[in-house]
Amino acid sequence: MQTTPEKPVEVEFCLQCGPGTGLRPRGDGSQLRCPRCGWVRLVPLRPLFVVIGASGAGKTTIVPALARKLVGCEVFDVDLTLHIAALGWDAWRATWLQIAHGIAQNGRSTVLCGTITPDQLETLPTRQLVGPIHSCLLDCPDDVLVERLRARPPWRGTDEDFVARQLGFAAWLRDHIEPSFSSYACEPATVVDQVAAWVTSGWIDGSAARLIRSPRRATGRESASHPFARMGPTVRSWARKALSRQTVFP
Ligand SMILES: [Zn+2]
Repeated sequence: MQTTPEKPVEVEFCLQCGPGTGLRPRGDGSQLRCPRCGWVRLVPLRPLFVVIGASGAGKTTIVPALARKLVGCEVFDVDLTLHIAALGWDAWRATWLQIAHGIAQNGRSTVLCGTITPDQLETLPTRQLVGPIHSCLLDCPDDVLVERLRARPPWRGTDEDFVARQLGFAAWLRDHIEPSFSSYACEPATVVDQVAAWVTSGWIDGSAARLIRSPRRATGRESASHPFARMGPTVRSWARKALSRQTVFP
């Protein structure tokens, strides 16, 4: 992705003094303060998670299942707002930071799936609106990537130049982003489990256990040595409810 400089992203400004006065981070970054009048805007410092990969790596595919899995997060395919890129790529990325900020104000964290690299976010003025940014890579072998891209319908414009660029981007990502999860080496549901576990490991306020909805993980461990018949009624009821929510991966 390239930056179009025609329309610079606006800095977060003071609502008292106006757009000409940008706010500055204060203390641990949980407050933005106006240097002129002292007006303060609170910033809930929730982490932002970015699942990045080349086109064809499987990002869009995992979004629905990942959203069902993570109960404390909102999960988005970043292409959802691609029309905003007409204002410039930085405006598009800044908008996602603003959305994540708004979601954090509702007490939830955000997971973005798409081609946004950490360095593209770190330099944006709206970076100060979110907490730590964690990135992981969704990857597959080059030959699989090529096969997936060439199988796309013609309207997506996936010509050989595009394929070559994605192969180069995938190589760059392998050198710069970790951890990495393979969308080829295992079933889609397993990839979702892995990414969800990574998200919960990046949670910083100790509430990771509330973030993940994982009937298979919980019941699998317990049922191996304890048959349902020996479980208490409460656990049995919970397990049945959880299993009834399991859905087939699209
Ligand atoms: Zn002010």
